[in-house]
Amino acid sequence: MFDIEVISLFIYAVLAGNAATTAFFRIPRNIPINGWKIVGGKKPHCSNCGHLLRFWEYLPVLSWIFTKWRCSYCGSKTDIAYPILEIGSVVIIFVLYMFLGFGERIVINFLFFAALLLNTMLFVRHKRIFLKSMAIMLSSIIVNLVYEVDCDRWICLFK
Ligand SMILES: [Zn+2]
Repeated sequence: MFDIEVISLFIYAVLAGNAATTAFFRIPRNIPINGWKIVGGKKPHCSNCGHLLRFWEYLPVLSWIFTKWRCSYCGSKTDIAYPILEIGSVVIIFVLYMFLGFGERIVINFLFFAALLLNTMLFVRHKRIFLKSMAIMLSSIIVNLVYEVDCDRWICLFK
């Protein structure tokens, strides 16, 4: 069960889920998605009490085990959207794994469903559509289309 395929897919999904939580936090606040230097100069912190998070408190998996999605300082619960995005990504990758098996197709397909989950969560929370997260989903669709083109009839980039 815990072979190299499963482990590498798990790591991939966890990293993507973590990126999704970053996007979920930053996009509605108009903060650039990439980069460690956050505009406003605030490191990862509890949104309730402002307590700066230690590294095991914001790293995926470690934070699941050690904090159980609660601030170690004030005890307030983490936004439910974060565990949904992180665990949701892991669920998505293993559902896809059952259908697609291991290979580049699952890596590419996953991007779309992860972006779909991100857009869904943003919409549920803010009742609006964000251009940036839609652009992420659109680009994942384009990558999938380019990958899936019929090579006998079209110019192929991947195959
Ligand atoms: Zn706190």
